[in-house]
Amino acid sequence: PQRSFVLLKPDAVRRGLVGAILSRFESRGLKIVAMDLRYVDGDLADQHYAEHVERDFYPPLRTFVTSGPSVAVLLEGDQVIEVVRTMNGATDARKAAPGTIRGDWALSNRENLVHGSDSAESAAREIALWFPDFA
Ligand code: ATP
Repeated sequence: PQRSFVLLKPDAVRRGLVGAILSRFESRGLKIVAMDLRYVDGDLADQHYAEHVERDFYPPLRTFVTSGPSVAVLLEGDQVIEVVRTMNGATDARKAAPGTIRGDWALSNRENLVHGSDSAESAAREIALWFPDFA
């Protein structure tokens, strides 16, 4: 089955939403293959967000993702990449649909609780970066 890299960002940990978010993924039928509480440093943030490092929104995003521990998760399941992105909701949480993680629990374009790989190619890249033992 397919695998996706999911990051529960520092706002999820700070707000005590880790269990609730993981519970949604597990209840959906997705399997946790690996999981790790990680203090993301600037170097890992730059590698993870390589496609965004030149963008205007990147410096505050970098500050945010390094602002406290995150939970890195490797999820597995049928069409997990698309399923997770649907469950996460729109990137801008202010526009995310109710019933999605962002649409129920976030109201920010930056502090939006979760990241999920957006394609098979990015999943492979992100799994190699975050969970090299599983790449
Ligand atoms: P993620 O990669 O976290 O799953 P995404 O794929 O939905 O989110 P991207 O366009 O890849 O969205 O942006 C990555 C992250 O950068 C977003 O999750 C958000 O935290 C931040 N971000 C994106 N666009 C903006 C913006 N205009 N202003 C502030 N932060 C932004």
